[in-house]
Amino acid sequence: MNILENVSLKSYNTFGIEVKARYFVECWHVHQICDAVHWQKTNNLPLLILGGGSNVLFTQDFEGLVLKISLLGKEIIREDDENVWLKVQAGENWNTLVEYCVARNWGGIENLTLIPGTVGAAPMQNIGAYGVELQEVFEYLEAFDVASGTIYRFNKKDCKFGYRESIFKNELKNRFIILTVVLKLSKKPTLNFSYADVEKFLKERHIEPSVQSISEAVRQIRIEKLPNPAEIGNAGSFFKNPYISKKHYEYLKQNYPNLPAYPLNENTYKVPAAWLIEQAGWKGYREGNAGVHHRQALVLINTGNAQGKEIWQLAQKIKKSVEEQFGIVLQTEVNVY
Ligand code: FAD
Ligand code: NAP
Repeated sequence: MNILENVSLKSYNTFGIEVKARYFVECWHVHQICDAVHWQKTNNLPLLILGGGSNVLFTQDFEGLVLKISLLGKEIIREDDENVWLKVQAGENWNTLVEYCVARNWGGIENLTLIPGTVGAAPMQNIGAYGVELQEVFEYLEAFDVASGTIYRFNKKDCKFGYRESIFKNELKNRFIILTVVLKLSKKPTLNFSYADVEKFLKERHIEPSVQSISEAVRQIRIEKLPNPAEIGNAGSFFKNPYISKKHYEYLKQNYPNLPAYPLNENTYKVPAAWLIEQAGWKGYREGNAGVHHRQALVLINTGNAQGKEIWQLAQKIKKSVEEQFGIVLQTEVNVY
């Protein structure tokens, strides 16, 4: 076990925020995780579990142990005419896994193409895009209990998946280290190209929907629309898309006839946070080295050497103005430390 001291986390978070970890260890094997957690507990230090750092905002130095998960490997654990069950180690890159499945025509995660980060972090917020969520292909995961040192299995129900939510982002945050994730992929997939951008992409090019073509459509749309973290620091959507009541929606619709919204059930509507933020005048806004992306208002950016605090303060201003204008309280999607 190689525990490093005073390590810069700048290259370990896609926002590119310069903070230091008092202690840092990268783990490629489960026994290293056991040793690192034992050491952290013996020294009575806080623990921060890190994957690809694409959904975190660091606002200060971390005075504890940052444990980077780099467990690698994947294996087919079951297969029949219809499905493949794939067990994947937590440190595997998510998009590389998507490409691996798409190349074999195994359907289920093609809509989740180009989401950054690791497989182990995917259940944390039940990653989702273009009408598909991880939970649709999720079978179970194995996780190391920091408190007891035991490995437990979590089935779908145990994970309490929700919209960009799971039990691991809430009541069990920092308690379990996800080690492996088992996905059930389909050899005869039901395709989802319901999102307007994907449908339009395929239609305009006269392309038949398939696992490959949907993945490619999503890839190209995302490259066009989203800032590449390698070029400009960001963590994707900063806020979640809010759910509001039908009554609230109808009230807002009177003042904002163009308000986009998606009914979820009889009484609930999902409203795009990007639209609210843009209406409140924030799209393309800059404040020092923090800003709001000019094409996607839900993405906050680090335009230079922003401190995490600057990004966080800007986020609070946006939140306040959206609440004042629309009576909607935005919830942060990114994990703030
Ligand atoms: P990290 O940022 O390292 O960690 C995120 C959280 O998970 C932290 O709280 C961390 O402690 C915890 N964690 C990480 N690994 C483990 C583990 N093995 N066990 C226990 N806890 C762990 N998300 C979407 O849902 N849909 C999108 O379409 C999407 N698009 C994005 C686009 C861009 C450009 C960017 C930058 C981000 C996007 N995201 C999206 C957010 C992000 O990519 C995902 O949430 C991703 O799953 C985070 O993975 P990570 O490995 O980088 O996690
Ligand atoms: P978009 O397609 O312009 O849609 C705007 C919003 O409306 C999205 O947030 C989406 O909600 C919702 N929406 C659109 N079509 C819908 C439909 N047919 N049914 C239900 N809801 C619909 O969004 P975008 O910003 O370009 O992003 C495209 C997809 O990638 C979205 O699914 C988005 O969540 C995902 N994405 C996520 C992140 C992240 O960091 N979390 C970053 C970039 C992109 P949903 O968000 O619920 O899908």
